[in-house]
Amino acid sequence: MQPLIKLENINRYYGSGDVIVKALDGVNLEIYPGEFVAIMGQSGSGKSTLMNIMGMLDRASGGSYLVSGKDVSALNADELALLRRDTFGFIFQRYNLLATADASENVQVPALYAGMGSAERRDRAQKLLTDLGIGDRSDHRPNQLSGGQQQRVAVARALMNDPPVLLADEPTGALDSKSSEEVMALLQELNDKGRTVIVITHEEEVAHYAQRQIRIEDGHIISDSGVDKDKRTASAQANANNDHNESSSLTMEAIESAKMALKALRVNIFRTALTLLGIIIGVAAVITMLAIGEGSKQNVLNQISSMGTNLLNIRPGAPGMRPSGDMATLVPSDATAILDQVNNVAYVVPQRSGSKTLRLGNIDDSVTVEGVGVNFPQARDWAIDQGVFFSQDDLKSYASVVVIGATVAENFFPYEDNPVGSFILIGNIPFEIIGVMEAKGAAPWGSDQDDTVWVPYTTSLVRLFGSNYLSGITVKVEDVDLVEQTESDITALLKARHQVEDFSVRNTASFLEMATETQNTLTILLGAVAAISLLVGGIGVMNIMLVSVVERTREIGIRMATGARRRDIMLQFNTEAAVVCTIGGLIGVILGFSAGFGLSLFGVNIAFTAGPAILAFSCAVGTGLLFGYLPARKAAHLDPVVALSSE
Ligand code: ADP
Ligand code: MG
Repeated sequence: MQPLIKLENINRYYGSGDVIVKALDGVNLEIYPGEFVAIMGQSGSGKSTLMNIMGMLDRASGGSYLVSGKDVSALNADELALLRRDTFGFIFQRYNLLATADASENVQVPALYAGMGSAERRDRAQKLLTDLGIGDRSDHRPNQLSGGQQQRVAVARALMNDPPVLLADEPTGALDSKSSEEVMALLQELNDKGRTVIVITHEEEVAHYAQRQIRIEDGHIISDSGVDKDKRTASAQANANNDHNESSSLTMEAIESAKMALKALRVNIFRTALTLLGIIIGVAAVITMLAIGEGSKQNVLNQISSMGTNLLNIRPGAPGMRPSGDMATLVPSDATAILDQVNNVAYVVPQRSGSKTLRLGNIDDSVTVEGVGVNFPQARDWAIDQGVFFSQDDLKSYASVVVIGATVAENFFPYEDNPVGSFILIGNIPFEIIGVMEAKGAAPWGSDQDDTVWVPYTTSLVRLFGSNYLSGITVKVEDVDLVEQTESDITALLKARHQVEDFSVRNTASFLEMATETQNTLTILLGAVAAISLLVGGIGVMNIMLVSVVERTREIGIRMATGARRRDIMLQFNTEAAVVCTIGGLIGVILGFSAGFGLSLFGVNIAFTAGPAILAFSCAVGTGLLFGYLPARKAAHLDPVVALSSE
């Protein structure tokens, strides 16, 4: 008959050189199916080391180990995990239950990795717990159970996959004598039903339950009471009935690990919340900030282009000079000359503007008065709402007529539908209102364009400002593609007329360029602030992921001892990371958009673009996955025994 377990000249050394510890030194041992073996020895004699090697939680430094005739030294980590899962159930001195799971869930863990369906798993766990006398405690967490009860849960867990061998390392070490007896009686009963039981102990009373006693001292077996032949034949079939699914389906694994992840996250709710917060703030900040930057940019650009990109503005004063006071360089005949002599000119509008007090009855207000040419509405694409704009005749006759802006109409005629025909005082001179312009809104530089009135420029020069000089000329070009040429033609013409360059010509396209530049700087600034908060959030996530895996190394050990392969562990931690990051990222996206939308209700210009949202979301999820993955990988590559002994 083949031994179930066969150790040949097994060594396990710790350290090297002078400080080498020979925990096991040349151990030879055969254990047959159906035996109840007690391995005894004093503390430090090598009992646990032996059990860990038998249970394949640890690897020997030398010698060969055969399980059912199969050499385990040739197996890789996942093959070991499978063989371990199908052969051994472990019972530890300190129970090694998952603190965050209840009794039933703890018992179910091995079946989870063996691919048993969830309903079947629950039923079987309940049955095992009931058989062991704690069926009414299945929803209790380990810290709500006594030591004896916890050890029963551990026994139930060891039995979950129906393994042929139970390995118990000082199972009664932490129990009072009554609980000890109960647990040992339980193991005895299991052995009677055909299971091989190996118990490690330093107590004689405990060892008496077994048929075979093996003593170990300083890593050597010093005595062995020998194999009980009857026992082993009686139950030889015990290890044959092993028919678990070889592996579970990927979707089921994914669903199970998502469930486990959600559970682990719920248990560590505070930590989860902090991780989420980091991601949420980071992602939301990026989305909102960039939406503000983009919104402000588009707003400015829209306003500038709404003025038309086909306009040239001629101002008095040399290029680059700041306009100051009343600069006497541009005259009305310059405007006429431009219209007559320059190609590609559609309209020329001479302008003379300034601030004046408007008065009507007991209302008075300071507004911008613009003396302009008759083509002002066409040049600026500005429609007239009521009445008419002034004519060439008005211009020639220095007529006291005025066209008022929408804001002015509102301020001075709050109760009247049609101000046309009324008279209003500009300065002290009465003007007849002949038209009202359509509302245009705020200019790119922020001032209200509708808080303006327009009079013939001739009238404004003579009657309002007492001057011969214009404050500007607006030229509308016919073909916007030729605007540069027209600009230089005008410059040349005016230079010839003035002898000096005492004016400057600007086109709206150049405004647009300038504004784009400033706005881009603003967006970059906002983006940088947001990126920093995303980075800080990311560092927080890394930190928490790292701590979480380090803290849970023991849990990883427990899971590996109960049949988890490396990839099961990896899957679990990666799923947790993915779940947190995706939830956090999504909330961040929603929050970012809501914040942006909220701000837009308060009049802030907001323009959402998909780029920042996608970028921030992927950054958050990427960081989480990477820093969930790296430490989890490290932990999954530990030997189970090392993971188990971590605190
Ligand atoms: P027992 O379980 O019989 O009390 P162990 O098998 O735990 O003894 O330990 C046997 C010997 O190996 C002891 O001298 C112990 O100090 C040593 N030992 C156990 N684990 C390690 C380890 N990870 N590193 C170094 N020495 C160890
Ligand atoms: Mg020990």
